[in-house]
Amino acid sequence: MDETIVVVGGALLHDGRLLAARRSAPPELAGRWELPGGKVEPGEAPEAALVRELREELGVTAESVERVPGEWPLRTPYVLRVWTARLLPGSADPTPLEDHDDLRWLSPDELWDVDWLDQDVPAVKAVLRRW
Ligand code: C5P
Repeated sequence: MDETIVVVGGALLHDGRLLAARRSAPPELAGRWELPGGKVEPGEAPEAALVRELREELGVTAESVERVPGEWPLRTPYVLRVWTARLLPGSADPTPLEDHDDLRWLSPDELWDVDWLDQDVPAVKAVLRRW
């Protein structure tokens, strides 16, 4: 029996930069930075969930590129899995629509300038290894 619920995180890469999003809620996470994403719905493919979440949260049209190896535990029953992603031609620029109040495109040398959520730190390191 597997009661795990996957949260997909998107490592959106554009012009050599990674998008980081600052959470506006809940209070205990507000102000911390994350890879945008969210929960996979029952019956939904994780890549489809990622595309949906990026559209809902950022207003972008994106596609997943490849899974970043690894899996990072969140609060039970959630686990974080990450895909790299890219904006499709004609996509709007990302804008914080629901869960975030700021966005930054980070170059590799700026990656640790933001206060990532603890659970996103190993995920961001894994992204960096494949960048
Ligand atoms: O965005 P959403 O509320 O659907 O995310 C589900 C849970 O996954 C939240 O509790 C959030 O803190 C967590 N999460 C995370 N790191 C991410 C994305 C989401 O810890 N990159």
